Amino acid sequence: MIAGLAVGWAVLVLLLRLGWRAFWAGILALWVAGMLASGLLPPDHPFHRQVGSDWRAWALPLLLVAAALVYRAGLARLKSRIPAPQTTEFPKGPFTPEELTRYARHILLREVGGPGQRRLKEARVLVVGAGGLGSPAILYLAAAGVGHLTVIDDDRVEPSNLQRQVIHRTGDVGSPKAESAARAVTALNPFVTVSALAERLTAERAAELFPHHDLILDGTDTFATRELVNAAAVAARRPLIAGAIAQWEGQVTLYDPARGGPCLTCLFPEAPAPGLAPTCAEAGVIAPLPGVLGSIMALEAVKVLTGAGEPLRGRMLLWDGLYADTRIIATERRADCPVCGSAQALDEPFAKP
Ligand SMILES: [Zn+2]
Repeated sequence: MIAGLAVGWAVLVLLLRLGWRAFWAGILALWVAGMLASGLLPPDHPFHRQVGSDWRAWALPLLLVAAALVYRAGLARLKSRIPAPQTTEFPKGPFTPEELTRYARHILLREVGGPGQRRLKEARVLVVGAGGLGSPAILYLAAAGVGHLTVIDDDRVEPSNLQRQVIHRTGDVGSPKAESAARAVTALNPFVTVSALAERLTAERAAELFPHHDLILDGTDTFATRELVNAAAVAARRPLIAGAIAQWEGQVTLYDPARGGPCLTCLFPEAPAPGLAPTCAEAGVIAPLPGVLGSIMALEAVKVLTGAGEPLRGRMLLWDGLYADTRIIATERRADCPVCGSAQALDEPFAKP
């Protein structure tokens, strides 16, 4: 009869879609009823033919099931106490809880972690040019948490810039690019301080500014400015990440003769003949190209500042957007380079552990 009741209950549960929890609750109730009937009814009660006369026969399976459930719950509890295999090192001291949340995905990375994020926060980076390459580079440096950014550019935002210089908005047309870029930085990350210099970079100004920065990024598009930036970076012994783009192609490298690798003049001793290296204004440029190369510049900057991975020191990355082709070429320092030939190489790497 008890078995019949159990089957009937199962059918009812299926028909009414009551679920497993209700099914087992019913079975438990039937089981307890059987146990009580076998133990409590008078010895001569006819119901004993249905349920037997030994309540312990009912109690034993119940005890076994209860023991198994207790064991399983205990195991789950022990497992939850074992710490996760990857322990995250949170930086103490200079970070607010908001910053820890903001940089959480960086702090998870083995190559960055708390110490790397701290180096980014303590870093001062100068970006020459808030144009096509400068736009994504500045935005990503700000988002990544580089503590201080200096942006120098003497241009004003023009309508024809907006096709690729994504740091500027339509409403910024007419503003100095350095100031428009600084507004974007502050809007993106209020934990970054930014200096906007709406002026042309001269050799004197570079000699003044570069020693107060850890790293220089150059996204300008005239050879004269690139030479000026290179000479000042070599003199200040600061690493220089330089990018260049035209039409569908671009290149990025790290000039850092103080720590090995060549400078710009080692690779390009002379200015290209007029017309051989046209600017974007002369030859055109596809919109996402500066986004790709400028982002790579920002990535290289994070690597140099944190000491992660292998930066492009002594290597140049060439990117051909039209054929989706990427190449790396080795570059060498020239002993007779007029700019870095007399510079002594430093022993220590840029980022100290
Ligand atoms: Zn050189």
